[in-house]
Amino acid sequence: MPKVHTRLDLDVAVLTLDNPPVNGFGLEQRRLLIEALDQAAADPAVRAIVVTGAGALFSGGADIREFGKPEMIASPHLLDVLQVAEYSAKPVVAAIHGTCMGGGLEFSLACHGRVALAGALVGLPEVKLGLLPGSGGTQRLPRALGLARALDLIVSGEPVPAAQLREGALFDAVVDEDVVGAACALARQLAQAGQRPRLREREVPDAPASAQELLGARRELARRQYPRQPARLHAIDAVAASLGDFEAGMELERWLFFALLATPESHAMRHAFFAERAAAHVRGVPADTPVRPVRLVGVVGAGTMGGGIAMNFLNAGLPVVLVEARQEALERGLATVRSNYEASARRGRLSAEQVEQRMALLRPSLDFEALAPCDLIIEAVFEDLQVKREVFQRLDAVAREGAILASNTSTLDLDAIAGFTRRPADVVGMHFFSPANVMKLLEVVRGGQTSAQVLATVMRLARSIGKTAVVSGVCDGFIGNRMLEHYGRMAHFLVEEGASPQQVDRALEDWGMAMGPFRMSDLAGNDIGWAIRKRRYVDKPQVRYSRLADRLCELGRFGQKTGAGWYRYESGSREALPDPEVDALIRQYRHDIGVSARAVSDREIVERCIYALVNEAARILEEGIAQRASDIDMVYLAGYGFPLWRGGPLMWADMQGSYMSARRMREFAAQPGGDAAFWEPAPWLARLAARGAGFHEA
Ligand code: NAD
Repeated sequence: MPKVHTRLDLDVAVLTLDNPPVNGFGLEQRRLLIEALDQAAADPAVRAIVVTGAGALFSGGADIREFGKPEMIASPHLLDVLQVAEYSAKPVVAAIHGTCMGGGLEFSLACHGRVALAGALVGLPEVKLGLLPGSGGTQRLPRALGLARALDLIVSGEPVPAAQLREGALFDAVVDEDVVGAACALARQLAQAGQRPRLREREVPDAPASAQELLGARRELARRQYPRQPARLHAIDAVAASLGDFEAGMELERWLFFALLATPESHAMRHAFFAERAAAHVRGVPADTPVRPVRLVGVVGAGTMGGGIAMNFLNAGLPVVLVEARQEALERGLATVRSNYEASARRGRLSAEQVEQRMALLRPSLDFEALAPCDLIIEAVFEDLQVKREVFQRLDAVAREGAILASNTSTLDLDAIAGFTRRPADVVGMHFFSPANVMKLLEVVRGGQTSAQVLATVMRLARSIGKTAVVSGVCDGFIGNRMLEHYGRMAHFLVEEGASPQQVDRALEDWGMAMGPFRMSDLAGNDIGWAIRKRRYVDKPQVRYSRLADRLCELGRFGQKTGAGWYRYESGSREALPDPEVDALIRQYRHDIGVSARAVSDREIVERCIYALVNEAARILEEGIAQRASDIDMVYLAGYGFPLWRGGPLMWADMQGSYMSARRMREFAAQPGGDAAFWEPAPWLARLAARGAGFHEA
């Protein structure tokens, strides 16, 4: 239940916002705050008012539980609360600690004074939802903080510690302790002035002479940094209006806010925001499921993945036992971890001391016995079921009772791996992505017998190391790579039919993908896909593959690591350069299979590749491999460079409409060489199309 507590500190009324978890400004809270402000104003014993937050923070802003519900726009609005505070005859001072974001910061900007704890994080993150601050933030923050710093905060959406915002008039004081005491002192001082409090954040500011130049430069930068995100540019437009009349600026801000609310970009970004939260909920694992303490982590294998996996835990202050089979592999792994940290230190992200602290948490060993005290052990050895068998049997023998045994396998059957132990309920998949210390996505693979406790623990742990965890059932490739295989197949067919790898990459990158499929394959190693295809030719002979990529691999063109793949690379450079040898290879291949090249449009490239993701996703939903459509979107947003402002492949499909999606797939099926079996709309999609419903309404 939202509450606002009032207590008296001599002649100052201290109002405490109490609405867990983030003291959000929901409808009831808005009402209660107005009532508390009115009561304090009417109380003759009160000379001034301080507003603070209960618990760990001031306020996180809007109450996201109201998003899309009538309460969100019901009266009184946040703007009304701000007006009541601003026009109070008694000075109102905000005492800010913990976090003060969005509407929380906008409220404090309407107060007559603000005091913050040095470590408090303040920010206006609305652009991350494709919106802009809609309660005066774009008008008051530039007046309080100056144009340039306000633009930094509003256009990036990133929070900043109060200590970095001492300059300007945002805070009357930044203190190291007793923020409420300091706020009370300021409130009394303002009351002593005797007049009505000054409305300084409404005054027309002295614009710096270079204001227009600055705004122009920021627009240019925003266009480059955030292509296709209208919110960033509109935020600058609104801030520009803060140089003039306050009310006119407020009107423009309102107008732009509602215009942005209707954009597909904002719709997609809000979807992604909720998708991330939804992914944390695991079916059959209630919120009160006990979690096991994880204080010591073990990692087996110090190769490409093992070292990066270990770094995640070292970064979070957890000690890691790293076990290898061979001394030189162990040394190489340790050296890689150190060199990654040293690179961060060179970029100023870590101090030399922090590098040493993290390295000191790492306990290398060649002996499995060293894993005995670990609470969680993650296996990252060769992708070979026999090797996994040997490792899991040894883990089963040494691990303590209750330890969680995780595998980082990309393709192998987790249930088979769990079956190598006498404790399959303790076995889970933790599928990290490369580089494991950087990539946000973690697919948590739920085996047939994985216990609820183990899942709850791993999901919680994932959040504590900054990962976005999505649960997947057991299947080849899990959610992400299973879909990617078909995306890659389509990219290869498109080249077979007449596009060039450069055209395919450019079309998808222009559309918003961080990296086109050929550049991505060169980065990951073309040999990985080759190995998978060789297996498929035997296991799934009915699935069609272009053999073009095999020819490339037969020439040893594995990508960046061999200096040549779909592109060529100069030594020491990652720049993908077109290669006439590849062009010749493609021409020869088309000749050999009797295809004459045709012009392929960028639209066809994008649609065939993205719809391939969509159709496979629908099969994944049908099989229950993913718990919900938004989880699939999250996998692509967090792990595959899918543009946030498109909301994920299934949000994109919903924007096209299920009927039109199915229709387009049937068109692809009818094309010569069109892979009709694949393009038959999956039953899940066909059912949606029959009702005209979307993946996210289902
Ligand atoms: P890698 O070859 O780079 O490293 C594997 C390491 O395991 C080697 O250093 C090897 O010495 C060690 N090892 C082998 N047998 C061992 C044993 N019995 N005991 C201890 N150490 C042993 O492989 P990788 O790329 O790090 O892949 C590891 C796992 O992660 C595989 O299951 C792979 O499918 C999966 N994975 C890889 C990627 C990727 O992009 N490379 C991404 C996700 C998942």
